[in-house]
Amino acid sequence: MNLVKYSNNSRSVDIEGYSLLIVAHTNELKNEQLEYLSGFIIDTDNTKFAQDIIFQIRNNDNPEIALLPIFISSVHKLPKHLEIHTDGPISMDLIDSYPQRIAAILKRVNKLQVPKGMMHQEFLNYKVLAYCYTRNKVLSPIASRYSLIGYIFPLVSLLFKEHEAIPLLKTLEDLTQQKLLSFSLQDYIHLCKSCSGNYVNFRECCPKCDSIDIKAHDMVHHFVCAHVAPEKDFKVEDGLECPKCDKQLRHIGIDYDKPSTIYSCNTCNHEFQNSGMKALCIDCSTEHELDELLEKSVGNYSLTQKGENNVLGLMKSKRKPRESIGNLSIPVFKILLNQEIQRVKASQCHSHFVSISIINKQLQLLNTEVKNELAKEINHIIQSYLKEADILVSKNYDCHYLLLPETKEDQLERIEHIQYNLNKLLSDNLQQSTNEVAIQYERISPEKTAHNYITS
Ligand SMILES: [Zn+2]
Ligand SMILES: [Zn+2]
Ligand SMILES: [Zn+2]
Repeated sequence: MNLVKYSNNSRSVDIEGYSLLIVAHTNELKNEQLEYLSGFIIDTDNTKFAQDIIFQIRNNDNPEIALLPIFISSVHKLPKHLEIHTDGPISMDLIDSYPQRIAAILKRVNKLQVPKGMMHQEFLNYKVLAYCYTRNKVLSPIASRYSLIGYIFPLVSLLFKEHEAIPLLKTLEDLTQQKLLSFSLQDYIHLCKSCSGNYVNFRECCPKCDSIDIKAHDMVHHFVCAHVAPEKDFKVEDGLECPKCDKQLRHIGIDYDKPSTIYSCNTCNHEFQNSGMKALCIDCSTEHELDELLEKSVGNYSLTQKGENNVLGLMKSKRKPRESIGNLSIPVFKILLNQEIQRVKASQCHSHFVSISIINKQLQLLNTEVKNELAKEINHIIQSYLKEADILVSKNYDCHYLLLPETKEDQLERIEHIQYNLNKLLSDNLQQSTNEVAIQYERISPEKTAHNYITS
């Protein structure tokens, strides 16, 4: 292979400017700057090594690396359940015919607009869609004994652990439901309710005692005397004889026929026409009634136009306008506060205004994202102690206001609870600093306006 270049102990092939790293073991990925590669060629027939290489590349945190072309050197034959996650064999003799394919994939990989700050599941969803986009083909599973559910999906099966069949299928279902993928049915699978495996043994059983030790007998109908009984009742040494009229039965269709089958149970002697059915999971020994098995559909998924837009960052932004931390904005809170002041004026009722400030120097150093998370958490704690009519607004992570209608001075226990729990939240999360949750409250006076309570 005169195309192969060696540098720093790593081997690569250069095809019309595309640099493919030749890998026989994951060690060879360690010191490489993967983002500068155009793809990989697997050069081992050790199934375990090849599997590790594919797994490691396809699970890279950067989708632009994870989705690079992976070929298998055609001198090696890898099993189908691994090949499915790659871009197929590459023959060194015909290597010049590959640039087009590499270019097609890379062009699409480069077009990806990977959103920042995705949660784990969002990231998986994105990767599945991006895989469909970069390969520009239908995501089709193959039947395989190497999968607990009997089917392996390209890429997708690498993103979930063996026992995570349900989350895997749910991911595909959800993407279909969101119309990012379209689905066409290929098969139904029946999974164990306890381990989600589909290696299940089906057996007929006695409907009375559940024993599988049952036997089917033909029923015999003797035409002459109209006697009907299981065949065993007719059996004599050299043939069949009617237990009712003692005549010999010679010719089926002339003397007698077999209108149906009957089962007998060798455990409880019960006789029955319709047997039950049980399903035993070979992997975890869980015994199921048939309707306890989880029925799931398996099929082919294609990227929709909406899915493509999603991958390319062309979705209309659904981002909400900068969400206020609480449910209300400060101006709306002020309006409600003024209304409450009017109500107090008219009805002489007791209502309270509360301000909660969190004083902690350490908190001020946090970045905005963390502050927002903290504000939500604080908001959540306060919210959980409020009564239905109470109104909360959060100005910032360290400043929250409450309006408590119909609340007298001796009915303010919820304020103590809030103070206690906020202190606890802070001391659980911040060491070596003193926290202060300062709470001030005052009765709403008919003489004031919202402006007197909230100055800014
Ligand atoms: Zn099981
Ligand atoms: Zn029985
Ligand atoms: Zn008879």
